[in-house]
Amino acid sequence: MNKITQDLPTPTWKRIIDDIYQMGCTVIFVEGGEPTLRPDLEKLIDYMKNKGFKVVLFSNGTRPINHLEPDAIWISIDGIEEHHNKIRGTGTFQKIMHTLKDNPEKNILSITTLSKLNVGRLEELCQVLSNTSLKGLIFNYMYPYQGIRLEALSREERVHSARRLMELKRIYPKIASSDSYLKMVGQKDKVCYPWILMLATADGKLTHGCTVEPTEDADCGKCDMMCGLEASAGFDLRPDSIAFWNKSNFLPPSHLVPGWITKLLNNDWKN
Ligand code: SF4
Repeated sequence: MNKITQDLPTPTWKRIIDDIYQMGCTVIFVEGGEPTLRPDLEKLIDYMKNKGFKVVLFSNGTRPINHLEPDAIWISIDGIEEHHNKIRGTGTFQKIMHTLKDNPEKNILSITTLSKLNVGRLEELCQVLSNTSLKGLIFNYMYPYQGIRLEALSREERVHSARRLMELKRIYPKIASSDSYLKMVGQKDKVCYPWILMLATADGKLTHGCTVEPTEDADCGKCDMMCGLEASAGFDLRPDSIAFWNKSNFLPPSHLVPGWITKLLNNDWKN
């Protein structure tokens, strides 16, 4: 989707980080491509943390991460070994398992985007991943972007799998996605506040709002992505969503306090 071929230099990214800070953002998700390919990643993460950001690094988990100190690392795991390797290449699942063994103390969570390929063996995946040092298992739903290779789930399949995940949480407590999020999946009355999101693309362009919009016209009826819905549940101070975000050491008091005050002033506190 992002056809940038030349990475921006370190000083440019530092300037963008400064701009994002000035705009009042408190959390940065570092995504790729594969961010660990950047030789200056350690410096950039340190720069973000020194400014006061919480930092979550996305990675494919196949490259060294022991020198990196974000608040959390989310490793993309696209299904059981067979499914993951089908998407990411032979041997990549085992490389992730080695990364986990080499970094047992790091705050690493998996993130699995559900599609028609992997949804059928959800329980097996939860079982396999629960037996690793992962600190949590995050689930997401694929958005049917034009030209995407994998097939996104129908609304019924999304609702069914989200309910299944809520049941599986009783057996596999490492499943981190909140019930507040999972209950919204596939529902017409789901709550998404796209204005809490800001996207910086590889060319340094900043866009404020829905993460689909910079690529194509968004269809909220087909979208159950956790970036919008779990973030909004956290913003709404849903306790289970706050617990979810705090698994990544994430919600700073500066985020919580204004939210609490707004809730009290509006007298609209809900559990
Ligand atoms: S498309 Fe998804 S992220 Fe964008 S506003 Fe709709 S629900 Fe939110």
